[in-house]
Amino acid sequence: MDHDVIVVGTRAAGAATAMLLARAGLRVLAVDRARFPSDTLSTHQVQVPGIARLRRWGVLDRIAAVTPAVPTVRVDAGRRAVLHGHYPAVDGVGALYGPRRTLLDAALVDAAREAGAEVREGFAVEELTREANGRITGIRGRERGEGRGRAPSTSRITATARLVIGADGKRSTIAEAVGATSYHVRPPATFACYTYWSGVDLPVGEIHVRPGLTVPAFPTNDGLAMVALFAPLADFDRFRADPGASYQAALDRCGGDLGDRVRSGVRAEPFRLAPDVPNQFRAAHGPGWALVGDAGVVMDPVAGQGISNAFRDAEILAAAIVRGLGSGGRLDDALAGYQRERDAAALPIYQMTRSLATLRVSAAQRLLLAAIADDPAETTRFLSVLAGADRYDEYLRAGNVLGRLSTGVGRRLCRRPVRAAQIKRRRVRPASAQAAPDHPKAAPALPARENRG
Ligand SMILES: Cc1cc2nc3c(=O)[nH]c(=O)nc-3n(C[C@H](O)[C@H](O)[C@H](O)COP(=O)(O)OP(=O)(O)OC[C@H]3O[C@@H](n4cnc5c(N)ncnc54)[C@H](O)[C@@H]3O)c2cc1C
Repeated sequence: MDHDVIVVGTRAAGAATAMLLARAGLRVLAVDRARFPSDTLSTHQVQVPGIARLRRWGVLDRIAAVTPAVPTVRVDAGRRAVLHGHYPAVDGVGALYGPRRTLLDAALVDAAREAGAEVREGFAVEELTREANGRITGIRGRERGEGRGRAPSTSRITATARLVIGADGKRSTIAEAVGATSYHVRPPATFACYTYWSGVDLPVGEIHVRPGLTVPAFPTNDGLAMVALFAPLADFDRFRADPGASYQAALDRCGGDLGDRVRSGVRAEPFRLAPDVPNQFRAAHGPGWALVGDAGVVMDPVAGQGISNAFRDAEILAAAIVRGLGSGGRLDDALAGYQRERDAAALPIYQMTRSLATLRVSAAQRLLLAAIADDPAETTRFLSVLAGADRYDEYLRAGNVLGRLSTGVGRRLCRRPVRAAQIKRRRVRPASAQAAPDHPKAAPALPARENRG
């Protein structure tokens, strides 16, 4: 075999996996058909657990040097359900960052090379090689020369390895070639539209949620603001008939001054439209192959979890491979452990994401936001779930949520009789009147700890 491991795809998942494996002393070839720096469709908020991993890997400094930290966020679900608080600290990191993918992915590719991985750009994998028993043994593909001043040349390349990793995104060629089975499949629910603005003041991160609409607005590189919206996929054709007008109308629907702030800024880049948002898990491994990142688990981008998920799974997979390829190790057993650990960590985040992708906010969710808004610790606990640092399923346990609601409402009853009365009135309205589907980037309550690994 030419290599211990071949990694196909070198963005969030692939470059991180290649870097970690090379640091462990394995012979790694990593290929991508793109050349870096390279952009991709992504609103690129990296949640706190993902940022903590970047720091642990020694990659955060190059990002943080040119990207604003976002330690606090304002979540506005309308009708007084507004909270503003600090993200949780994970391993000493207490901020989200939104680096452009041109910066983030290139920094990870550099880190993989510095660790000793052979990274080849402009290399498109077309097929896999296999033994007679079906075990994957390598890749075949075409590598484009850069053709500086000459016509670009293309070479057909074959390379072999003990393991081929598909880190090639949600439409993974590797997953298709090996016939990886899918599970937890859910239909696409939203589309995204985003762009970048100069002259838009964003002192804190903002997430606005309204019926059928979620609008994240975060600062990014070069003094720009990234302002995105997520809306029901069923509205996509109408929206794309006039993206500029539809986008502005959606921001105006958030109320407050967001629409005016954006209107007074200057659009720095074209609108990006993203209607291809599948939700599924794929089998994580088989004989001679494994999947990581979106190739293995992909979820609606409304929750902004894909990059952090990719980092987490890169770490779990790399540790499993090092164990499995080590002396006395059993690679297939180690990879089975990877799949179990990946699924246990990803499932609560998937459940939260599916809830957010409904683009509805229930009366109970709004009540919860209002109940915890005055309490900085509870607000951070809630943001910890949104960030994927604490488990959504544990936060949602009935005792937890009801406890928070009763404490929060009780506090309000003592402090603000008028507002408490309003809350009470709202609670006795008939269910049909309450169902007004307000949206939420925020669903209910909080949690235990997961992703701190
Ligand atoms: C609109 C939108 C907004 C998003 N916003 C966020 C957000 O705010 N925060 C967040 O965490 N996540 C967000 N995501 C999700 C995030 O972008 C993905 O989860 C993340 O990019 C997955 O990384 P990956 O490395 O697994 O795959 P990808 O980023 O898809 O990278 C796959 C790589 O594989 C390469 N490749 C594919 N096929 C081949 C081949 N045959 N040969 C060679 N190379 C190949 C591609 O060139 C590519 O570079 C968003 C996604 C979308 C669509």
